[in-house]
Amino acid sequence: MIVGGGACGLMAAMELLAKGYEVTLLESRNRLGGRIWSLDAKSARFKIEAGAEFIHGDLPLTLSLLKNLGIDIKKTGGKMVVIPQKGEEKSRDGINWELLFKKMGKLKKDMPLSTFLSTYFPDESNKQLRNYAIGFAGGYDLADPKKASTLALWEEWNSPEGDQFRIEGGYASLIAAMEAHCLREGCSIHLSEAVTNIRWKKGEVKARTAGERILEAGKLITTLPVGLWHRDPVPVRFSPGIPEKVRAYRQIGYGPVIKIILIFKRNFWKEKYGNAGFFLTGQAIPTWWTQFPIALPMLTGWLGGPAAKKINDLSQKEILNIALASLSTAFELDQKKLNILLAESFIYDWQQDEFSAGGYSYSMVGSQKAKTELGRPVERTLYFAGEALYAGTLQGTVEAALESGREVARKIPGTSHN
Ligand SMILES: Cc1cc2nc3c(=O)[nH]c(=O)nc-3n(C[C@H](O)[C@H](O)[C@H](O)COP(=O)(O)OP(=O)(O)OC[C@H]3O[C@@H](n4cnc5c(N)ncnc54)[C@H](O)[C@@H]3O)c2cc1C
Repeated sequence: MIVGGGACGLMAAMELLAKGYEVTLLESRNRLGGRIWSLDAKSARFKIEAGAEFIHGDLPLTLSLLKNLGIDIKKTGGKMVVIPQKGEEKSRDGINWELLFKKMGKLKKDMPLSTFLSTYFPDESNKQLRNYAIGFAGGYDLADPKKASTLALWEEWNSPEGDQFRIEGGYASLIAAMEAHCLREGCSIHLSEAVTNIRWKKGEVKARTAGERILEAGKLITTLPVGLWHRDPVPVRFSPGIPEKVRAYRQIGYGPVIKIILIFKRNFWKEKYGNAGFFLTGQAIPTWWTQFPIALPMLTGWLGGPAAKKINDLSQKEILNIALASLSTAFELDQKKLNILLAESFIYDWQQDEFSAGGYSYSMVGSQKAKTELGRPVERTLYFAGEALYAGTLQGTVEAALESGREVARKIPGTSHN
């Protein structure tokens, strides 16, 4: 039995079906995919990605899976355009990134990023550097600098980037193809079944759902996002309890993110920044991207980490206002005119999502040990997986979720059917 029908759960199902297992997959939402969620835009005929959007580089498992399932990808690219705030241009150039990376990499004992910065870059002259490092950790990794592991960030920031791709038809076409494969192989998939209780003993698991269904299996894999394990109480109750696993989950960081998708009647940035892929604006919603190389009149705004947490009680209308104000300042356009140009907006705050409780994971000091603990099944009956349990530098990605799904399935011995 697999709890959670995101990329990880589906990958684990595919592997186990291939080994001859009977697989039941329980998913709380009325759709599969979890943090992969491609929607149809209302005002135009294209997909918008509320969750995962990019393939970040030459990712072996994602790319081979897409190839096997016959799904095409498209290279993104485009220029990274920095639109500095007034008076900021000079100081950005003055940041000594090389020194920062060198000192991060030489660290003997891991420490949170903010401790590292105040220890090694304490002077007023390094204020800009501290702010940028914190901004990057929050924006890209969704990380709280008071908790994020300096060594893990260093490893990730130093790994080669490679080309980025989007999936034709949206990431959900990967999920649809995985679902079709699983169904063909006899997987029993139950949607809108949120698991609430798991009673277990060695070799026997009974899961109860919010709809009062009881399903049984000999082994269970949970792929619940880390954010749910941080909740008190954890929304899925295990009896007997597994406190050592809950403790381990709470040693892994998990960050909030708000994605703001704005579709305009025309792309007003085209004349000045026709080949732009990304905009770094330094505004309240700092990061924006286009659909380059496709000339769609759509901009996607991104706010992650502590900055997203700060505005988590604002209404969609208030967030939209902040977004338009950010664009208005960055592009020196009247906000009223931008408002008139706006055809459609879609704002999704993942920290408010009942079944994700945030965006994705990051490493805190001590996370690697926690992942080792979670890599150990309980009584060869309870297994743990998900994006956050992947130990490499691609944490927080679909690739990490797929890898973790494959890895957990490989821990479960083969059956007599294969
Ligand atoms: C806004 C955003 C943008 C992102 N952008 C990218 C990107 O560009 N590229 C990239 O590679 N990655 C990106 N990611 C990360 C990527 O989406 C995730 O790492 C990956 O999808 C996680 O897969 P998973 O299967 O581990 O978890 P999930 O997809 O969260 O799957 C877990 C499943 O468990 C279900 N569930 C929860 N509670 C219960 C319950 N009680 N009972 C049954 N089921 C339950 C959930 O509904 C969910 O479907 C992004 C994430 C977000 C939020």
